[in-house]
Amino acid sequence: MSLLGPVEVRTLAEKLNIRPTKKLGQNFVIDGGTVRKIVRVAGVGPQDVVLEIGPGLGSLTLALLGEVARVVAVEIDPVLAGQLPLTVAEMAPEHADRLSVVGADALKIGPEDLPATPTALVANLPYNVSVPVLLHLLEVLPSLRRGLVMVQSEVADRLAAPPGSRTYGVPSVKAAWYADVRRAGPVGRNVFWPAPNVDSGLVSLIRRDPPETSVSREEVFAVIDAAFAQRRKTLRAALASWAGTAAAAEATLKAAGINPTERGEQLNVHDFARIAASR
Ligand code: SAM
Repeated sequence: MSLLGPVEVRTLAEKLNIRPTKKLGQNFVIDGGTVRKIVRVAGVGPQDVVLEIGPGLGSLTLALLGEVARVVAVEIDPVLAGQLPLTVAEMAPEHADRLSVVGADALKIGPEDLPATPTALVANLPYNVSVPVLLHLLEVLPSLRRGLVMVQSEVADRLAAPPGSRTYGVPSVKAAWYADVRRAGPVGRNVFWPAPNVDSGLVSLIRRDPPETSVSREEVFAVIDAAFAQRRKTLRAALASWAGTAAAAEATLKAAGINPTERGEQLNVHDFARIAASR
């Protein structure tokens, strides 16, 4: 299976007259070893329908097509979305019928927009929207059982951070609602064209059941947002407007078995679910 290297990526970009934009987070992988590693670490196989967000010129798509049953690729840039089937027809004609391209904004898609039900997410995510895209997909596509995404290194740290660590915050707790999230290796800058000015990292996600609670996910997420909006404050103070008053917040926290002088960064997703259910 031939993959896209630096020469192929440049040639394609020139042919399409593409100037990669920062706005759309367009950094294309030019290294076959990197895309092979992503597919290997993702652990996807012939049983999987893979959702790829932002296939770009097709670097990762080509590596996926050789290993999985089907790839559903969602690309916002109409020029890239239009070219992808042609690139695959030329470089991997034997797998061309396994690819569906959906020209859409990943932040707005739902199951009804996809031609097949995806079992796994594998993507080099556009960096400026990586967290909202990831949380949106986990929410609207419960069929996704696992994922391997490439994001900015700092975002990888935040997504996988445990309670109490410096980088623990809203993305960490919300991702933990849906999945077991781990860092799965660093990625340097030179595997991209153009090279970004930040390092990247792989993040693996394995879906698990959300915390058992009598309240909705939205209600739990509202507590998380409130607790981290003022992360230096104690929970008693940070949750005052959410609960109505500081005294009400204190009573709710005590009812949930949480010390009101703690800070949000000490709590795990189950703690937040208990607070939401205790109001
Ligand atoms: N997967 C390719 C690779 O590894 O070479 C390209 C990855 S590049 C980091 C991100 C891609 O996401 C670009 O192709 C960009 O056009 C696309 N993109 C940006 N925002 C998007 C969105 N909201 N929905 C879908 N695709 C998006």
